[in-house]
Amino acid sequence: MSARVTVVGGGVIALLTAVECVLDGHKVTVVDQGPIPHSRATSFDQHRILRALHPSDPQATAAALRAHRRWVELEELFLTRFYEQVGALTVLPPAAAAEAAAMLGNAGGSVRELTAAGLSDRYPHLRVDGGLGAVLEDEAGVLLAERVLAACVGWLKWQSGIDLIEHRAVTAVDGESGNVRLVDGRVLHGDAVLVAVGPWSRGLMPEGIAERLTLFRQSLLYCRVPRHQAQAWASTPAIPALGTKGGAWLIPPVAGTALKLTSATACRVVDELTDYATDPYWQRRLEKEFGDLLPGFGPAWVTAAKDAYYSSFSETGGPLVVALGGDAYAYAACGGTSFKFAPLIARSLADRLTGRIPSQIGLGALDGLPLDALAPQLAGR
Ligand SMILES: Cc1cc2nc3c(=O)[nH]c(=O)nc-3n(C[C@H](O)[C@H](O)[C@H](O)COP(=O)(O)OP(=O)(O)OC[C@H]3O[C@@H](n4cnc5c(N)ncnc54)[C@H](O)[C@@H]3O)c2cc1C
Repeated sequence: MSARVTVVGGGVIALLTAVECVLDGHKVTVVDQGPIPHSRATSFDQHRILRALHPSDPQATAAALRAHRRWVELEELFLTRFYEQVGALTVLPPAAAAEAAAMLGNAGGSVRELTAAGLSDRYPHLRVDGGLGAVLEDEAGVLLAERVLAACVGWLKWQSGIDLIEHRAVTAVDGESGNVRLVDGRVLHGDAVLVAVGPWSRGLMPEGIAERLTLFRQSLLYCRVPRHQAQAWASTPAIPALGTKGGAWLIPPVAGTALKLTSATACRVVDELTDYATDPYWQRRLEKEFGDLLPGFGPAWVTAAKDAYYSSFSETGGPLVVALGGDAYAYAACGGTSFKFAPLIARSLADRLTGRIPSQIGLGALDGLPLDALAPQLAGR
């Protein structure tokens, strides 16, 4: 039977859940405080990494391989190219690299292990600690995030039974009745409701949940690589870990995007969402960190800097699904890795919203009952 589903938010989780609900034959209303998509959403950026390898976590690794396959299917569904399968390189101590490569291989991934010498031969434009090795995986790469959101919206607009409401913040959600109140006083009624408002979640969560969400702010540098390195960068995979103590990582300049540099050292806990400008202190800090990692790198490479926010469930550092009563749920915290898993998360949420047993996706408590704190491994990238 067709249900009426209200989806609050226009980020990757909300939009892909709307897509899954429409594919199941339901009527869907998506409502966002801004345009859909909104440039302030956490999901709105040039790119996101899709990697299968989650060291020491075979379940998350297998789930990420399934997510990879679903992203490829979604490209076909939306008739849009947004997944640059350039692979992913994770720099690790040699013993950990061997273990990780074996695990990924066992999960069905196509993987190569690189020695320190292999790394420097292959990537002379990276300066990696000489004692480290790496895992290079093939079913991985870069999701062109803004293009993903645009493709979802483009596809949804052509479907029947879909309504997109822009520039209307939701001020209250009543799960039991399925009522969603908008800032202009209008009330939307649905048989089921999903709230997926990313880092804004604290504002819409019930007492007892809101204070258990931690808000993070992270600085990012966008760079133009020098012409003489352009070819080397064109064949560089996404690098979720450069093997540094600080947790530096980067996304290569694929499909006309910038080289993006950031690090766990540029991620800090904040009290509230304010502006998105990068303070010179954080910019300089990242420039210094990458000066040690990329030969020739300097401030002249940087064309832009931006801050972004995400929230996580304080007790695990990862995502959180919350039951709001009736057939209402919230994806209350996205953690630092939800983009790549979004097709699986969306399927699981769509099942819950429409009274089906949620698909088992192999991501900790997303497979269990809400209040669901996902496994801490999802806190990393
Ligand atoms: C710096 C950074 C790097 C990351 N890198 C990766 C990566 O490489 N790989 C990966 O898998 N993940 C990564 N992530 C995580 C990933 O981007 C997020 O988990 C994901 O985008 C969250 O999507 P979302 O839909 O939950 O939230 P959002 O994208 O933030 O969407 C929330 C939406 O809700 C709307 N909204 C808010 N309040 C209201 C309201 N009251 N009423 C109506 N609408 C409202 C907002 O306008 C927005 O459009 C990264 C995150 C950050 C910050």
